[in-house]
Amino acid sequence: MKNIWIIANWKSNKNIAEALEWISLVGPKLPRKDNLPAGRQGLKVVVCPTFSVIEEVKKAIQVGNFPLMVGSQDLSPFDEGAYTGEEAAAILNDLVELSILGHSERRQNFGESDEMVERKTAQAIAANIIPLVCVQGQDIPIPSECNLVAYEPIFAIGTGNPDTPENAESVAKKIKEKVGQEIEILYGGSVNSENCKKFLEQEDISGFLIGKASLDGEEFVKIIDCANSLI
Ligand code: PEP
Repeated sequence: MKNIWIIANWKSNKNIAEALEWISLVGPKLPRKDNLPAGRQGLKVVVCPTFSVIEEVKKAIQVGNFPLMVGSQDLSPFDEGAYTGEEAAAILNDLVELSILGHSERRQNFGESDEMVERKTAQAIAANIIPLVCVQGQDIPIPSECNLVAYEPIFAIGTGNPDTPENAESVAKKIKEKVGQEIEILYGGSVNSENCKKFLEQEDISGFLIGKASLDGEEFVKIIDCANSLI
C-alpha cells in the first residue's frame, strides 16, 4: 500500500490568527489514525506555514492532538552560526518534521541553485527533517539522499492550469527510473478538490503539494477526504 501525502504550502500567507482559525477548522476533520483499520494508516497530512507562525501552529496541533505534521517552506544551507536571517535545520527541528526545498518560487526569486538545494537537503537529513525536494521537470537533479520529491511544472503553479494526470504519472515514472531507489513522488500545480482524484489514481503519484487550494480549510479538507477514500 502506498502512502498518500497531502502537504499544504501556505507560502507568504496567513498571520497567526488566520493560521489558528485554519487549524481549528481542519484539525478536527482530519481522519484520526486510531480510528482507521490497520493497513489504512498511510495518509500523511502536513501544513507548512511561514516561519513566524510555525510555533503557534505547532502548539495548536499539540493541544488539539490533531494528526497533522508541521513543515517549513525552506531552511538554511548552513550550520548554526553567523548566518544572519537564516533558519538552521538543527534549530528548526524542534518545530518541524519536513521541509519544502527547491520550490520554483525560490529558484526564480532567490536564485536558488541545484547545488544549494543539495546542501539544504543534507542539512535537513542531518537534523532528522524530511526533505521534500521540488523539481520542475524530470531533468532537475535530485539529491541522492532524498526520498520524497514533488514534481511541480512551472506552467501549473498557481495558474489554474494543472498538468494532466497522465503526464504527471509519466514524469513520476521517469523520475523513479532515473533515481533507481525507493522514492515517493508527489504532484503539485493547481490541484483542487475537483481534479485531485484523477491524480491520486495514478500508480506513481503519492499525493500532493498544494498552494492556493490549501489556504481554504474547507477546500483542503475535501482533498483530504478524497485521498482518504482511496487508501
Ligand atoms: C505550490 O506552490 O507548490 C503549488 C502547488 O501551488 P498551487 O497549488 O497554487 O498551484
